[in-house]
Amino acid sequence: MSEPLLEVSDLQVYFPVYGKGLVPRHINDVKAVDGVTFQVGRGETLGLVGESGCGKTTTGLAVLRLIEPTGGSVVFDGVDLSTLDKRDLRLLRKRMALIFQDPYASLDPRMSIGAIVGEPLEIHRLTQTRADRDDRVGELLELVGLSPDYRNRYPHEFSGGQRQRVGIARALATEPDFIVCDEPIAALDVSIQAGIMNLLEDLQDELGLTYIFIAHDLSAVQHFSDRIAVMYLGRVVEVADRVALYETPQHPYTAALLSAVPVPNPAVQRTRQRIILEGDVPSPLNPPSGCSFHQRCPKAFEPCPHVDPALRTTKRDHDVACHLHDPALSGAAGA
Ligand code: SF4
Repeated sequence: MSEPLLEVSDLQVYFPVYGKGLVPRHINDVKAVDGVTFQVGRGETLGLVGESGCGKTTTGLAVLRLIEPTGGSVVFDGVDLSTLDKRDLRLLRKRMALIFQDPYASLDPRMSIGAIVGEPLEIHRLTQTRADRDDRVGELLELVGLSPDYRNRYPHEFSGGQRQRVGIARALATEPDFIVCDEPIAALDVSIQAGIMNLLEDLQDELGLTYIFIAHDLSAVQHFSDRIAVMYLGRVVEVADRVALYETPQHPYTAALLSAVPVPNPAVQRTRQRIILEGDVPSPLNPPSGCSFHQRCPKAFEPCPHVDPALRTTKRDHDVACHLHDPALSGAAGA
C-alpha cells in the first residue's frame, strides 16, 4: 500500500434505541459500525463490500463526518478529524466528497444542472462571479463527458447514466482528493454501468483521486480496487490486497461471497462450488455472541459461539477475523 491518506481506527457508530414511556429511557444501541479499522493509500481504491445492512454506507458517511461517530478515530492526511472545530472541518471537507447511489433521488428535480453542479462552488465560495461559476460548471460537465450546454436543463431530461455523471461533476466541484463512491452503479442499467466505472477510473488517473468504493458484492469491485475490505454485521472481517483476497480468501464469509462471482472461463466455472449461506444477517440490535458469523458459518467450531475473533494479520498486508487463522485455536477446528 502507498502512503496512507486515510486511517480509520476502531470506528464505531451506534444509534441509541429508547423505550416507550413518559420519559423514554435509553435501552439499547443499534451497533451499525462496531470497531472498524482500515487504511486507504494515496491514489488507491479500497473496495468496501458486504451484504445490505452490514454498515458499509454508515462507515462511508462517518469517515466523511456526515454522521457523527460514537467512537474511534478518522485521520485524513495526518489530521484527526475529531480534533477540528466546525470551521476547520468545513475547510478540510472540501478535499472529501460523496457520490450517491441513486442518481434519481440524489438530484433535486427543481434545480437546473448548472445550479446542482454549481452549489458546492457557492457553499465554499470558490468562484467570485456568476460568469466564473458558469465557466467552472461547464468545465466540470465536460470533465464527466457531458456538454456544457446541459447547464440549463433539469434532471428529468436525462438518463440514469447521465444523471450519475452530473452527480460525479458535483462531487468534483471542490477539487477533492478523496471520494466515497456509495454503490454508484447499483441503480443503473447494466449496459451503462461500464461507462460510469471507466469514467471513475479515468478521473482517478487524471486527478490522482483516492476512492472508497462501496459495493454489495465482490464482482462489482473486482477490477477496480487495489485493496478490499469485507464487512459483516458492522465489522471488517477480512482486508487484503485484491489479488490475495480473490485467490486465497481466508474468511469463510469472503469465500461464500466469492463463490457467487462468475468466472469468465466456463471450464473453471463448472468446477466451482457455490457456497450457499443459510439464514439472514442477524440484527445489529441483538448481535450473536462470539463470532457474529457463527450461526451461518459452514466452518464454525467449538470456540466460535463464545469467543469474538479479533482482526489479526495472517500474511503480509492480509488481515482476517476468524479463529481458523488463530494458531492458538485453529487446532480445534474439525476435531
Ligand atoms: Fe466461522 Fe468460527 Fe471463523 Fe467465525 S470464527 S468465521 S464462525 S470459523
